Amino acid sequence: MKANIHPTYHENAKVTCACGNAWLTGSTIPEIRVNICSKCHPFYTGEQRIVDTVGRVERFVKRLEARQSATARQEIEAKIRRESEEAARKARARGDNPEKAVADVVAKYAAEQNA
Ligand SMILES: [Zn+2]
Repeated sequence: MKANIHPTYHENAKVTCACGNAWLTGSTIPEIRVNICSKCHPFYTGEQRIVDTVGRVERFVKRLEARQSATARQEIEAKIRRESEEAARKARARGDNPEKAVADVVAKYAAEQNA
């Protein structure tokens, strides 16, 4: 190694994630803070996080109850959930509001079902 050109290498640099997970790594930075890691990112957890916090999908399905059979309702609900997850994911990737994307999908189905 050439003298006086290398930064200090920390063998046990501590990485701390906002979710609480922490681990050691090698780095020239002694302490690293991250917002997301493989313990909490949906890509690794396989968890789909729908951003339907105000329950739009539930309310829509409730409105359908009066006029649709249970099977038809389940089919529609599954379709809406799939589509809204996809729409929310795309909106998030674009930097748009995922909540609005979910609302748009529900509104589209509401218009179709006239509910
Ligand atoms: Zn994490």
